[in-house]
This record gives sequence, structure tokens and C-alpha cells, in this order.
Amino acid sequence: MNIKKILNELTLEEKASLCSGADFWHTKAIERLDISQIMVSDGPHGLRKNVEGSENPNEAIKAVCFPTASALACSFDRVLIESMGKALGEECRAENVSVILGPGCNIKRSPLCGRNFEYFSEDPYLASEMAAAHIKGVQSKGIGTSLKHFAANNQETRRLTVDEKIDERTLHEIYLAAFENAVIKAKPWTVMCSYNRINGVHSSQNKMLLTDVLRDKWGFNGLVVSDWGAVDDRVEAVKAGLDLEMPASFGKNDKLIVEAVQNGELSMDELDKCVERILALIDRADENSTKTEWNMEKQHELARKISSQCSVLLKNDEHILPLNKNEKICFIGYFAENPRYQGGGSSHINSFKTTSALEAVKEYCDVEYAQGYVTDKDAADKALLDEAVECAKRNDKVIIFAGLPDAFESEGFDRQHLRMPNCQLELIDEIRKVNPNIVIVLHNGAPVEMPFVDDVKGILEVYLGGQAVGGAVCDILFGKVNPSGKLAETFPIKLEDNPSYLNFPGKGDDVHYSEGIFVGYRYYEKKQMETLFPFGFGLSYTTFEYSNMSISSEEIDENKTLTVSCDITNTGETDGMEIVQLYVSDKQSSVIRPIKELKGFEKVFLKAGETKKVVFHLNKKSFAYYEPAISDWFVEYGEFEILIGASSKDIRSSKSVYVNSDVRLPLKFDFNNTVGDIMSCDEGKEVFGEFVESFCNSMLSINGDGLGEASKDMAISMFKDTPLRGMLCYDPREEYNRAKLAEMIDKVNNMLEINHS
Ligand code: BGC
Repeated sequence: MNIKKILNELTLEEKASLCSGADFWHTKAIERLDISQIMVSDGPHGLRKNVEGSENPNEAIKAVCFPTASALACSFDRVLIESMGKALGEECRAENVSVILGPGCNIKRSPLCGRNFEYFSEDPYLASEMAAAHIKGVQSKGIGTSLKHFAANNQETRRLTVDEKIDERTLHEIYLAAFENAVIKAKPWTVMCSYNRINGVHSSQNKMLLTDVLRDKWGFNGLVVSDWGAVDDRVEAVKAGLDLEMPASFGKNDKLIVEAVQNGELSMDELDKCVERILALIDRADENSTKTEWNMEKQHELARKISSQCSVLLKNDEHILPLNKNEKICFIGYFAENPRYQGGGSSHINSFKTTSALEAVKEYCDVEYAQGYVTDKDAADKALLDEAVECAKRNDKVIIFAGLPDAFESEGFDRQHLRMPNCQLELIDEIRKVNPNIVIVLHNGAPVEMPFVDDVKGILEVYLGGQAVGGAVCDILFGKVNPSGKLAETFPIKLEDNPSYLNFPGKGDDVHYSEGIFVGYRYYEKKQMETLFPFGFGLSYTTFEYSNMSISSEEIDENKTLTVSCDITNTGETDGMEIVQLYVSDKQSSVIRPIKELKGFEKVFLKAGETKKVVFHLNKKSFAYYEPAISDWFVEYGEFEILIGASSKDIRSSKSVYVNSDVRLPLKFDFNNTVGDIMSCDEGKEVFGEFVESFCNSMLSINGDGLGEASKDMAISMFKDTPLRGMLCYDPREEYNRAKLAEMIDKVNNMLEINHS
């Protein structure tokens, strides 16, 4: 397509009309210029394509539902997620869908967010790596993705109007970082803006977000599409860089664009930029429009494999798992027969088939089954409960399938608490009284409180494992697959422990992200809090040993790569996969930082007895924090610790490295800077040295006597925190007056400018 030529030929009205959808899922065609129409569909863990000709946007064709993002992230497996992306790409290609909407890369600020099942992690690095793998997989098939919801869509309550007050460092270091890495690494064809406002501005018209950061800083050259119905002021949105409004606004907003250009409020150039990007997307889609085949049954098998590698074994006392086919086993719980394997809302897939654990277990042995509870109301059914208890009595081991019913979590609303239904808790409690050999299999999109944690021997967290989940669960229960997932988010003991607890979901439209960068494990670690299960935790049927950690250098320049390696040995008798995690800790920081942060992970398969070397490459970003003073990532030179471990709480080995950085933060002093501030730089020391010494002496003589060391410490901290203007009160010498001080401050500022330019 000759985009420049078409731009010249389009009328103003045609340009404006291209900027919104033709209907719920299509862009507009302009036949006279051969501009075709393309189709987009949800996403993200399956294809939700509208049945042709149907007016109902929820009427979707049969497709394959893979595990949702909260499960996928527990695989920590880029290759696995890429394989799912490829399958989705094939499906789209066969069904003539050009862009599949997803993945969702929002950070799990609170476990209450109703849509957490669609998001990867509380950690931006992990979330971005998983999103990048998803994008690469889909796009390798010539199908576009839409990385969403940009940005900070962290709650469902008032999601279209909520105004999130987020400080600059937190926004970039946590909430944007997840998108940043994915955009740079995987280059999604499109990015979808979120519904919410950030610091007063709707994402759909947020120039800082859509242009300054996304395009100018990160180099994104694709298209920005609105979340469905996210546009507030269409003209402002064009100016900010929002290209395509979805769904159709029935020409209403197109008309506003035309008027704005006619009255000079919007320049043709601004509109052209959007149109150019829309044409480029259509062109890209056209180039990849040849149909291919896809095989649903094969994808069902892939969904089973993926789910089995995402599930997290949280507890396995006395090796209750894997099960032995010759034991007397019963499955209890409605979810054994009707697994909850996906969430409600726009990602809901019309699965072509579903495999329950009760069906899949036939591949292994016969089990007894009792339903135990219902999901349409949270009340114990006495008959079902009694039947389940009797069933548990008759068997050696009891596998209870539990978790959250649909009504407990979905797009569109947030959860009110982290509790599982009372009827399920009661069931577990009654069964515990008659049989000590209990394994709980959990189907839920996000963390739950587990009052039963000490009463059962096994817990398998499956999350929402996709349509083939039943097979995957049985493969793990019977040891065909060795569990290898680890938690991509912390499970708190109780909701009140969560850092966002006091400010979620906010008051009216205002929500303050007061916990700042301390989200998830960053908070629990800093506060030294116990958790139910920590970030990165998961068990295996085998054991792994870590040895021979090494780093390529003990001192590096921030722009160089640091190579870190470690040997992992499977010391058990079962083949298995280990997720090796690398965290970085800043040992000497002048700003508040988390205890440590995930900066690398590798999943490695090891036969029993086998050893493999795992290698990581760290770069500037691995050591940096986001510094508002320079609006960029910044490495503060000094000592860092590199930690390698099996979870955030299970660090096996560590090494120190000194990182050099040439970048200095801009410094400029005035009368209200403190003595400590000015003495923290060489220039300040040179100019103020003598004056500060005499000032200290007089402070010490006033405060330093009598009370021994404590009063000396008090004096030292008082003079460190005294503003420069305050020193005049303590120095009797005539020549040290305000004018002289101003001269000295100027001198330091001039020296700083010269030295740092
Ligand atoms: C959701 C998006 C989705 C879109 C289209 C919106 O309500 O937030 O994630 O892609 O609808 O269904």
C-alpha cells in the first residue's frame, strides 16, 4: 500500500472516519481507494471471534481456551508461552482475524482486582517477559497483538472514571515498566489504552503516556487503539496519539474530528499521523491474510501440556503426591466434574470441549466421586456434604477440588474479600475429621486465604487452567508430569496484609497509590512480614541443588553486561524442571529501594542426577531505579548483591558486584538545602569545609556535653539536617553573613555545572 499517496487522496471526512471502528470488531473499508476492512477479536488466552452475522458481541465461535495469564506466568517459561502464542496466531490466521486483543500486562496491585486472572504478575519484569513471549508467538504467525491495558488498569471498580494518583517513580518503575520491556522486546503491532485516568488525565488522551513515553522514549511505531468505550474527548485523544477508537462511535466522534480540523483546533498533521498508523496496520494485516489451517484437537493437547507446567505444588507433606494407581482414591468437589478454567468477561472463550479431572482420571484408574458442594449459592448442602464425608471415610486419599466460583471474580467488578466459599471450607473441615490424607486442588484466578493450610497434606494451585485442565491435573496427581510452576505473585496470609489494603479501591474516583513502589514481595520483604506462600515459590517431586555461582567481574561499568552463572543439579530420583530466579539488591542506596528485585529467571529441565549450567546476562536496567530528577532509569554507583535462589524466600547463593556509573544527578543548592546535602558532594566539601567544621564545633559545644555519645549523635544529626541558612545563627564571625553564604552557594553550583556538564 502506498500510504503517502493514499493520504493525499483521502478527504478530511474519510480520514476522520478511519479513526473509529465500523462496528464492534472491524475497522472501516474505503473501497474507492482499495482500503480493506480488518477484524480484531479478543484475546488473550483463546480466540473469541464473533459468529459471522451475529449482532451479539458475546456470541463467539468454538475455539480453544488456554490457561489464563495468572496461570501462564507461573510457568516462568518463555518458550511455553510463545508456543501458546503461535497456536493463537494460527487460529486467527485460519479465522481471518488480524489482531488478537492481548496480552494484558497490568500489575497485580491488589489481589482483589476482579481481572487479575487476566494479568501475569505483581512483578514488572516477570509480567513483561511473559507478555513479550506471548506477543512474539502470535506475531510470528503474521497476526497482530494488542498489549493492554495501557496503563495502570489495576482495578475494576469505577474502571472507566477512576483517577489513579501515582507518583512519577512508582508509575515508571512498577506500572509502566511491565509495558516498557514488552514493547521494546516484542514490538506489538498495537497497544490498547486503558479506561482509567492517571493523575487526572484519561489514558485515551494522555499525551505523556501515548506519545512522550510510548513512542518517543520506547520507540513504539505501531497503532494505539482505545479500550472499548475508553474515549472521553476524541479530539484531545487524537492530539495525544490515540489512533483508532473502538468500537464504532456511529460517526459521532468522527464528526468532532472533522469540525476540530475545520476550526483549527486540530491540525491536519496531527490527524494524518493517526491515519497513517491505521493504514499501516491494515497494510500489515493485508500482507498476512492468506488463510492457514489449524487443528483444534492438537491445540487441546497443547493446552493440557501448558496447564500441567503452570500448576504450582504448594504443599506436599509426607509425599502425599504423586498418587499411586493402586490406592483407594476419591475425588470430591463440583470442580472435579465441572472445572472452573477461565474467567468471566471479554476474555471468555467458547471452548469446543472441556476435559474434567473426573473424565481424565479414567486414563489412570477408577476413583470414587462425590460432588460435595454447589456453586450457585454459598450454602452447604447437607446431603452432598454427608455423602462426601462417607466417601472420604471409605478411601485412602481424598482429593478435594475447590476454589472460586464464577460469581466470586470476573472482569467488571472487584472481589470484596479473599475467602473461598464457606460451603467449601466447611466441606474441607468435615473431611479432615474423618481422613487425614487430603490434597486440595485449587481452581481460582487469584490468591485466596487458606484457613485449612495446616490441616491438609497437599495443595495444588492450578489457577484457571484452560479447557484441558482436568487432564493436566491428573498428569500431576499421578506423577506423569512433575510439577514445575512457581508463584508469580505473593499469597498473603490475610487480605489486610496487602500493601494496597488501605487504598483499594479508593474513595469515589480517587485512588491513591500510597504504597508506592512497594507492591507484592517488594512490600512484604521490606516489612519483614510472613506470607502464606512467597513470590516465586513452588515444589517439585524432586530436589535441586545450586552450586558454583560465578559472576564475570566484581566491578563493572553500568553500560556493560554482567554475566552470572550457576550450576543446578537434580538431586532426586525424578526428572523435573526448576525455575532458577535471580534477584538484585542495592546495598548502598540514597533512595528507598526494595530489599531485592527479580531481574532474571530461567527454567531448566534436568534428568534425575543431571547438572546444567544456567546463565544470566544483567544490564543497566538490572541495577537501575527510575529517577524523576532525570526522568529516566538511573544507576547509583556502589555495591550490589546478586542473589540466586529457588524462590524469593529461598536464596541459595549470592555474590557482590560494584557497579560504576558516570551519570550524576543534577545538583543545585539553595539556602534551604541542608549541611548534609552540601557536604555530600566534593564541590560542596571544598567550598563549605571550613565553615561547616566551625559550625560543627559550636553545635558540639552546645549539645555535645554532658550526655555522652547519645548527645553527640544528636548534635551530629542536628547539624546535618540544619538548612544552610541556619548556620548563620551559630557562627559568630562577622564575615559569614547571608551575602557571603549566597556567594558560596553560587560557587558550588557553578563548580557543579562545570564538572557535570
Ligand atoms: C476490555 C478489553 C477487551 C475489549 C473488547 C473491554 O471491555 O477491557 O480487554 O479487549 O473490551 O472486548
